[in-house]
Amino acid sequence: MPAAAGLDGSSIRFVLCDLDGVVWLRRQAIPGAPEAIARLRADGRRVLFVTNNSMSPIAEQEAALAAIDVPADGDVITSAQAAASLVEPDEVVVVCGGTGVTEAVDARGAFAVDYGPADAVVVGLHRSFDFARLQAANAAIRSGARFIATNLDPTFPTPDGPTPGAGALVAAVATVAETQPVVAGKPFAPMAELTRLRCGPDFSSSTAIVVGDRWSTDGSFADELGVPFALVRSGVTGAGDPIPAAPAFDGADLAAVADALS
Ligand SMILES: [Mg+2]
Repeated sequence: MPAAAGLDGSSIRFVLCDLDGVVWLRRQAIPGAPEAIARLRADGRRVLFVTNNSMSPIAEQEAALAAIDVPADGDVITSAQAAASLVEPDEVVVVCGGTGVTEAVDARGAFAVDYGPADAVVVGLHRSFDFARLQAANAAIRSGARFIATNLDPTFPTPDGPTPGAGALVAAVATVAETQPVVAGKPFAPMAELTRLRCGPDFSSSTAIVVGDRWSTDGSFADELGVPFALVRSGVTGAGDPIPAAPAFDGADLAAVADALS
């Protein structure tokens, strides 16, 4: 389907790109995506990569993008950074998450710890989640720590089928602590605020667009930002899959978005 009315490429300065299902799948470039990003940048647009991946450190994600010919230094925004934006410098934070969360908490000037009394608990996807980590989060929250989740994605798509996403771990902590988290990542307000800050004063509802493959996160994130949504059918939403409403753009992939904007 070609670009719908309402997508005015001439005013778009910021292209806010999801990663999985838009730029890559399992870190293999989606055909045409690196070239599309280069074209968007050559037209003077800033391309930022907004991802709910909180587990990987920023440098590791930037290096993986560079490996598919997408320079990305300073252009990756993660749900770990959004979660860290909800803690204050010098606060103590129990990290029940991956190294990306620890890095973001450190960068914020707060202190990441494994156990103990804390000002906040940040829960994100990690592969060493176990009973001890669950109890550390539970005990800190019950002692008054704020409960922050990086994101609520229930699953992570793999060629072998869905595997646990951050939402599965967050649900376990919420169940045992009997309280609900503040959620930082897409499509929630902390990620939107962080994205606005990174774009700077030129950001507005008419100068940015969100490109994503998942209606429930990327589409809702565009709504939270107040900007148009370009749906691409190169990830979890396949060709012909039904969607709840018509987005500003509905096309095959990022290359089609670049065509529509140029
Ligand atoms: Mg995606």
